[in-house]
Amino acid sequence: MQPQIIFLGTGGDCFVVGKQLRASGGIIIRANDMQFHIDPGPGSVVRAMQYDVNLRENTCILLSHNHINHASDINAVISSMTHGGLDKKGVLITNKTAVEGNEDISPMITHYYMGCLERIITALPDQRIGVGDIEIKTTPTKHGIENIGFKFVTPDFTLSYISDTVNFTGLAEAHKGSEILIMNVVNPSGVSSKINLNSDDVVEIIKKIKPKLAIIQHFGIKMINADPMYEAREIQKKTDTQVIAAKDGMVINPLSYSSSLRQKKLDSF
Ligand SMILES: [Zn+2]
Repeated sequence: MQPQIIFLGTGGDCFVVGKQLRASGGIIIRANDMQFHIDPGPGSVVRAMQYDVNLRENTCILLSHNHINHASDINAVISSMTHGGLDKKGVLITNKTAVEGNEDISPMITHYYMGCLERIITALPDQRIGVGDIEIKTTPTKHGIENIGFKFVTPDFTLSYISDTVNFTGLAEAHKGSEILIMNVVNPSGVSSKINLNSDDVVEIIKKIKPKLAIIQHFGIKMINADPMYEAREIQKKTDTQVIAAKDGMVINPLSYSSSLRQKKLDSF
């Protein structure tokens, strides 16, 4: 299994996801012969087939929070992964609200599909979880519902998925050292919201973290109208960092942005 990042969707708000102007099947990360599926939203199983991803090979599902555009297809993905529970396997890393709900919301995941997994880890921010040779650090967010981001530290590269959040003191610090930064940027420059990032926040965050590559995705309707490619170019100009606006089905080789691998190659001369 090649190390890869595959976007099964790049849609953000209910308008974009509702009309599938952009897909919403989450993100696949392949590293160290394991397959991670982040935030399986509406259409995950369909998009997996469309973009040639075998969900049966999922090792681990990472569910950042219980919003429908991140969690709606979690049961279908677990069913694909475990043959409907016949082959109990896999790990789910998420938070307490996503599996238990609270007084306002019911969890998207059902009891039956929870039972199809080998292990469910409910984490708070700043926990470290080992999956094979990979360390996953959960990171803080501010999104109006319990939510966590994920920082993957693999032997070959470091990648952060910031998840839905506003910018706040401590956000960038939690992702320091990440070579690849995936950011959910619902709004373009000049449009603010109380729960999500816009392009201006992203400029500040990138300047603090200085990744090798920043990928923006999870676009809302105002972002789509402003044109994510234009926004990415503007962010790139302001930060001197390579910025890509993700497209549905886009595949990235994370090793191209790994400094440790570059160092290993240099050392071998
Ligand atoms: Zn959300």
